[in-house]
Amino acid sequence: MPVAVTDPWVARDAAVVWHGFTQMAAYPDNAPIVVERAEGRELIDVHGNRYFDAISSLWVTTLGHGVPELDAAVIDQLGRVAHATLLGNGSRATVEFAEALAAVVPVVDPHVLFASDGAVAVEQALKVAFQYWVNRGEPGHTQFLALGDAYHGDTVGALSLGDGGFGTALFDPLRFPVVRTPGYAAVDWAAKMVGCIEAHVDSLAAVVIEPLVQGASGILVAEPSDLALVGEACRSLGVLLICDEVATGFGRTGRLFASEWAGPEFRPDILCLGKGITGGYLPLSATVASGAVFKAFDGPDLGESTFYHGHSYGGNALGCAVALRHLQLIGEWDVLANVSAVAERLSSRLADSVTGRPGVGAVRQRGLMAGIELHPPEGASRWGRRVCAGAVARGVLLRPLGDVVVVMPPLTTTADEIDRVVDVLAESIDAVWSEDHP
Ligand SMILES: *Cc1c(COP(=O)(O)O)cnc(C)c1O
Repeated sequence: MPVAVTDPWVARDAAVVWHGFTQMAAYPDNAPIVVERAEGRELIDVHGNRYFDAISSLWVTTLGHGVPELDAAVIDQLGRVAHATLLGNGSRATVEFAEALAAVVPVVDPHVLFASDGAVAVEQALKVAFQYWVNRGEPGHTQFLALGDAYHGDTVGALSLGDGGFGTALFDPLRFPVVRTPGYAAVDWAAKMVGCIEAHVDSLAAVVIEPLVQGASGILVAEPSDLALVGEACRSLGVLLICDEVATGFGRTGRLFASEWAGPEFRPDILCLGKGITGGYLPLSATVASGAVFKAFDGPDLGESTFYHGHSYGGNALGCAVALRHLQLIGEWDVLANVSAVAERLSSRLADSVTGRPGVGAVRQRGLMAGIELHPPEGASRWGRRVCAGAVARGVLLRPLGDVVVVMPPLTTTADEIDRVVDVLAESIDAVWSEDHP
């Protein structure tokens, strides 16, 4: 490994680029890689070193990098138009993708409001849910019910729904209050949430969950039957259900959408999508509202019931073109079958080679989302970072969430690649354990 501080690319990077979720004073010393290109599921840095992308470029890459079919979709759309606004007008590529998406989402009579980032898809969902009640002339539905350990993005509204963490407590004065019940770490989370829905039914605008997996809080997992209980409570009590599938959507859990695990009756009123929506190619996100929600916004032109919200690049034509081809390829390549098969492989390899190893705590997984909790010895520091740095030095790109190592490889990953990731992870854990136990 090159020493980071003497790497001219890292120096140039650190001199002008401010990286998110990164302490820039420490950044050059943490041996960051500067990616220049990619092939398949490997990233290649400016020095020609190759790394298996075991975090899917922070959970967005699905089929791999440089997929010829996706490249062609972007190039073809470039020959037509790169972008045309959706505010008051239409764009052919957006219409075509919205039709294809509407045919597969678990939302009844879906209508798609596009944006560019996951947090904004959530932000739009909050505002749609809030205005829905206003438009219906039923005031007082002004609160949101969210889970402990929730993460919904970093804009101020999404941050309000989130349960803090990541050093965001300083923004508390800006966050609006929400009703909160325990997250998936509590075995009785669903019963508590249902009780809370009943108690606050007259003041709730919506209930917000990340179905099946709370990703950013360390891959905390739920049982589908518990999701179904919450969905049933929302339906019977007439409270809107917002499902944030920014991380779980587009095959990540082995179904196209994680909501599907909870059964055919489980139908979010509003569904938030992002990350894998374009296969990791371009920034695109979507807030999908049911027909019942959508119709509450009908009214006279320029009237009060209109949803006065929009983003410059929402429904970008290049993004929609690649998203459409991506959705087709998930079917054509039978990607979900691969996810199931290699998720099984990942599960058994983690059980054999990682669970129970010194320094390892709980291992959690749903589909190709896994979290390996490290239990560092007393007094040891920055274990997550050190284990992942060891993996990077061994050619597997991993990134921790605190002391949880996240394994989230592309959906087209092979069994051999799973083996390599698990072997490298086990070696890296052992190496850090030895450093602290000389
Ligand atoms: C990543 C994520 C977001 C935020 O998406 P961005 O595109 O990073 O703004 C929201 N919700 C969940 C569940 C996420 O995992």
